[in-house]
Amino acid sequence: MKIFCIGRNYSEHARELSNEVPSEPLVFMKPATALLKDNDPFYHPTFSSDIHYEVELVLKIKKHGKRIEKQFASLYYDHIGLGIDFTARDIQSSLKAKGLPWEKAKSFDHSAVISKFVPLDTIPSNDNIHFSLKKNGQVVQQGQSSNMIFDFDTLVSEVSKYFTLQIGDLIYTGTPSGVGPIKQGDHLQGYIGDTLFFETIIK
Ligand code: ZN
Repeated sequence: MKIFCIGRNYSEHARELSNEVPSEPLVFMKPATALLKDNDPFYHPTFSSDIHYEVELVLKIKKHGKRIEKQFASLYYDHIGLGIDFTARDIQSSLKAKGLPWEKAKSFDHSAVISKFVPLDTIPSNDNIHFSLKKNGQVVQQGQSSNMIFDFDTLVSEVSKYFTLQIGDLIYTGTPSGVGPIKQGDHLQGYIGDTLFFETIIK
């Protein structure tokens, strides 16, 4: 399975990192070994001193496809979950400054927290999904899918122009503003609406 991530898909987040709002989706990938499931703890790696949380809605692909037209994209997913795209911001900043690829900053082991998946049609008002992240009980990020620059169908269509989508592939759809650092002992909890989807302790 493949893990796709979309960068800068919420204009306020792009601005908070002084990035341009993109004219087409920014896509990068993580390997399967990046997944952190079942509310397991996250062990803070030693290679970074500035790991940031980025809470994101995650689509699960249910059907094999390539070059999917936007009008048919919704046939390729019907389950949604929530995750974190952990980012070593210090490493990413130095890679970005040199114009180098981001994998060391984005795709390391356990950098992709993932929740359970539920059918999209069980989410109340699923045309505008509200989600949030709490750190130590305080809300630090809040988003709604209607604020995405590129919606789910556009992302599926765009990703499938370059990469064959296979059953079980995941698309992390980008983070809203409010990203910030973690430290050992922090407790992160992700919610869709009022429902807890995942939690993890930083060790
Ligand atoms: Zn992200």
